[in-house]
Amino acid sequence: MNKSQSLYEQANLVMPGGVNSPVRAFNGVGGTPLFIEKANGAYIYDADGKAYIDYVGSWGPMILGHNNPDIADAVCKAVRNGLSFGAPTEIEVKLANLVTSIMPSIEMLRMVNSGTEATMSAIRVARGFTGRDKIIKFEGCYHGHADYLLVKAGSGALTFGHPTSPGVPSDFVKHTLVCDYNNLDSVKKSFEQYPDQIAAIIVEPVAGNMNCVPAKQSFLQGLRDLCDQYGTLLIIDEVMTGFRVALGGAQDYYNVTPDLTCLGKVIGGGMPVGAFGGRADIMQQLAPTGPIYQAGTLSGNPIAMTAGYTALNLLNDVGIYQQLDSLTTQLCNGLSDVAKRNNVPMVINHVGAMFGLFFTTGEEVTSYHDVMQSDIELFKKFYHYMLSQGIYFAPSAFEAGFMSLAHSDEEINHTIDAANRFFKTLK
Ligand code: PMP
Repeated sequence: MNKSQSLYEQANLVMPGGVNSPVRAFNGVGGTPLFIEKANGAYIYDADGKAYIDYVGSWGPMILGHNNPDIADAVCKAVRNGLSFGAPTEIEVKLANLVTSIMPSIEMLRMVNSGTEATMSAIRVARGFTGRDKIIKFEGCYHGHADYLLVKAGSGALTFGHPTSPGVPSDFVKHTLVCDYNNLDSVKKSFEQYPDQIAAIIVEPVAGNMNCVPAKQSFLQGLRDLCDQYGTLLIIDEVMTGFRVALGGAQDYYNVTPDLTCLGKVIGGGMPVGAFGGRADIMQQLAPTGPIYQAGTLSGNPIAMTAGYTALNLLNDVGIYQQLDSLTTQLCNGLSDVAKRNNVPMVINHVGAMFGLFFTTGEEVTSYHDVMQSDIELFKKFYHYMLSQGIYFAPSAFEAGFMSLAHSDEEINHTIDAANRFFKTLK
């Protein structure tokens, strides 16, 4: 038994499934999760000392590569001044100014501690501001684990969703309408049925929680137009895409302006940070300026703000996103080529530093339905082969892959060669 396996056994005795977040447990691919000891650049190292090229990047935050020396130094310096004050600090103002300058749709924002907090708070503000209860979300999109967002589509296009988890009362999801991703008609129908009851649409602009499914520009613009027509707020959930698909996030990439934006992952530079923000007239409705309540003991934590501020400053430099895009293109084209050469049907989606591969005979993957047509058993075999070759993809066919600035030709070529070897075994 290796050290990861032994730690996993111990972990299972004291933590459900041995983990603090479900997908880490390798349930999606089978086998024992790797226990990670350290990480550097493009590599993570497991408890047994084996190195892996990492395309998970802590599920998104590590866009600069692991253990970035500037972030590490800034954090160490901040630690010496105290870990938490529960009072305002200069660094929060600096980070807020930086975010508002990078994303002009965000006139004001509030820091929280996770993406889940960001989305649930944004929805509360949207409901409080509009005085409406209903929200629209899309099948296959994930926005954290708040009750009314853990909802899957009902049987008909116009039914309300069903809870996806025990513990979520049906009553709590009765205001959540679930529509089809990249399908504007399903949204129009919801508005026709409830023209003056929908507070907000929340959308992942590149869905990263059903692998990687980019929105069509016309879909996002259509959502913007419908929101304007019906007095509904558009919330773009950029927890995954913010500072990743472009510096200014997917809203910049697609040129669609939301009323509210949710942020997480990259904004914390690897520390637990989220944020939500947008139009000042909406954000001013939050306590203490307004009546809508939202708070957090550790929100704006100085260490986390320091990590996020340092990370965003490093990213706010010319050419970074071109480089990230060209690295990701190189990987995706290479994987696509070797799949074709070996007659393995595969579709690859990619936007900026985010990508996803699907073993499918379909022409394209643009919806939850398309994602579900892909060959999950083949993905599992691919996954374990790649892992054995020292390549760490997300352990699920339903999660996006992430590129970092620390990846180079060497890691990318190693990945493509390994995939080629795997595809050859399928002949
Ligand atoms: N929104 C999106 C788009 C996400 O991808 C995630 C997490 N993967 C969340 C919200 C929730 O963020 P957290 O896990 O930090 O609560």
